[in-house]
Amino acid sequence: MNYQLAREEMVDVQIARRGIRDERVLEAFRTVPRHLFVPARDRDHAYADSPLPIGKGQTISQPYIVAYMTDLLNLQGDEIILEIGTGSGYQAAILGGLAAEVHTIERHDKLARAAQKRLSKLGYENIHVHQGDGTLGLLEFAPYAAVMVTAAAPAVPRPLLEQLQDGGKLIMPVGERFGQVMELWQRRGEEFTSKKLAPVAFVPLLGRHGWDTPRL
Ligand code: SAH
Repeated sequence: MNYQLAREEMVDVQIARRGIRDERVLEAFRTVPRHLFVPARDRDHAYADSPLPIGKGQTISQPYIVAYMTDLLNLQGDEIILEIGTGSGYQAAILGGLAAEVHTIERHDKLARAAQKRLSKLGYENIHVHQGDGTLGLLEFAPYAAVMVTAAAPAVPRPLLEQLQDGGKLIMPVGERFGQVMELWQRRGEEFTSKKLAPVAFVPLLGRHGWDTPRL
């Protein structure tokens, strides 16, 4: 299979044609090898118009959703940003091409280690994977120009809003366990404004300011 061709078609048909016009964003999607972020047996489906399993019951979002969330952050290239829910590291890799430094937090130790290894191997030196409860944010490198949460919770975790810099943006799915609405927040001094965007379906954000952690 010609992955590069598949990638270009993905960008044209699934992303550009649906309204994402920022050339930097489109270029990031043409560059990141999505097939290397999914299990080997799913490689040939990596560029399909759908989410994919990445292990531990988690999924990597459909390409358009990744692009949609990325585009809303309007990154210029000099930002320090935070992602919650590293998963495979695909979204982090896309962000890594569009911002200066990306910190990303994953609660599953195995997923965190696999993502860090994958990203290092691919040469993303500006992406730093941290293992822990992302609902607490990461005070060490705050404030952030942007925060992206790729798992859903009943409300936006307060620490993530507090770790935004003035003018900073946060994008996250908020709602019920099996259906949410994408929300875009922005900080202005000590005020926060928010907009409800499209209906979506994400895996749950577990942790202190997310859903309760299920008993094993
Ligand atoms: N962005 C990922 C896909 C995210 S799936 C990618 O591009 O592949 C959502 C991820 O959020 C899962 O890996 C899940 O383990 C993680 N997660 C859930 N709750 C979390 C928390 N409190 N902190 C960090 N990660 C969390």
